Amino acid sequence: MLNFTIKQLAVELAARRLSSVEVTGFFIKRIKGLGKVFNAFISVDEERSLSAARAADVLLRQGKGCTLTGIPFAHKDIFCAQGWRTTCGSKMLSNFVAPYDAHVIERFNTAGAVIAGKTNMDEFAMGSSNETSYFGPVRNPWNTAAVPGGSSGGSAAAVAARLVPAATGTDTGGSIRQPAALTGVCGIKPTYGVVSRYGMIAFASSLDQAGPFARTAEDLALMLNTMAGFDARDSTSLERKTEDYTRDLSKPVRGLRIGLPSEFFADGVASDVARAVDAAITEFRKLGCETVEVRLPNMKLSVPVYYVLAPAEASSNLSRYDGVRYGHRAPEYVDLVDMYKKSRAQGFGAEVKRRILIGTYVLSHGYYDAYYIKAQKLRRLIAQDFTDAFTKCDVIMGPTSPSTAFNIGEKAGDPVQMYLSDIYTIAVNLAGLPGMSIPAGFGDTNLPVGLQLIGNYFDEARMLNLAHQYQQATDWHVRMPEGLEEP
Ligand code: GLN
Repeated sequence: MLNFTIKQLAVELAARRLSSVEVTGFFIKRIKGLGKVFNAFISVDEERSLSAARAADVLLRQGKGCTLTGIPFAHKDIFCAQGWRTTCGSKMLSNFVAPYDAHVIERFNTAGAVIAGKTNMDEFAMGSSNETSYFGPVRNPWNTAAVPGGSSGGSAAAVAARLVPAATGTDTGGSIRQPAALTGVCGIKPTYGVVSRYGMIAFASSLDQAGPFARTAEDLALMLNTMAGFDARDSTSLERKTEDYTRDLSKPVRGLRIGLPSEFFADGVASDVARAVDAAITEFRKLGCETVEVRLPNMKLSVPVYYVLAPAEASSNLSRYDGVRYGHRAPEYVDLVDMYKKSRAQGFGAEVKRRILIGTYVLSHGYYDAYYIKAQKLRRLIAQDFTDAFTKCDVIMGPTSPSTAFNIGEKAGDPVQMYLSDIYTIAVNLAGLPGMSIPAGFGDTNLPVGLQLIGNYFDEARMLNLAHQYQQATDWHVRMPEGLEEP
């Protein structure tokens, strides 16, 4: 069962060769054992999970199941799930039990899926290494001294360590793709607006997008089928026809044009990452794809632009944590203002405070035009670069992350170094495009390398097609860290 994909588990469950209680029990046992080694989970509730599994078994027995029925999924602790503590990796929400389900959770529940637990993450999804979590860092299953990436590091580590068959995450500047790359699993951030943000704790609303983590492109497609779709409760949710993201998986990829941006292969990328990415591109050429050079001249501005816009939006979104309605409240204070101040000073960690300070600064009178408005204009130019590139190619490929996983503590003292680990992912969020990462080999220290695929708007099915075909021809995605067979 350890290495079963969602696709395989669905077959076993439908044929009644396995029950959801057995599958859920198997993975919960791993979460409670191995999960501790990696600190991948914030909340586990075995009874709640098993009761959902029993309900799923009833559906399956009645022949009313669908593909995800009875399968346990881990959810990033950014999604509100009714009755579950939902912390967003913060002390501020460490006592918050969600009174309702996020759209994404609702969709999984409607499909009869089981919640296997809530995963560890960077505080309010701010980070690239999972070190900003109030609940401590997550460890990389390939090397416990290394980070799993962030901010969805718990979800990525959980899938890599086979603590769950698949998980959800969110990606504001790379938080699905970068941890997927660093832990050797697959992850996709859909086009902005494809998955509803309702009930997903807001970081930077114009960039936040939810997506799945799994071990195969096919499983990502199955999960996206459940997660995507219009939701009136999110004003940026897009009203589009329902898609079947598995529809193109087996299409031949011959003749597709892969754009290789010279900016992705310049100085910044580590040589072992470049080598693995080159080998992956060679594999796509063998599959009949053509490659063309494209330019993304404004991409170099994406990190500074993001670190104006994302903190600006965060400073507004996080103003709701005032200690009044929910969340941490300082135990002692003299008056209302003092209560606000102390609650926020105690409830937020250093990185979150840094972002709130930057955000309020760039939005303040006198600096708004120079920073915020300027960044909005540059965001437009970055998006235009992609539009131009997609006149010459069908998909863009390059590295997901400039290096393989770095060590815990290595970049924690240097925010700018940390911010630069998202240099290849952030532009995609600024443009609102879909992006994914798939395993594409190993670097010098035997840590996984991720290949990034960037599609045009709504081109998820084509990206999944390319990834699936690559996974039919290679076996990087089935590799597993050593020593994880026993729970
Ligand atoms: N690492 C980036 C940040 O710290 C992106 C995080 C994310 O995608 N949630 O903001």
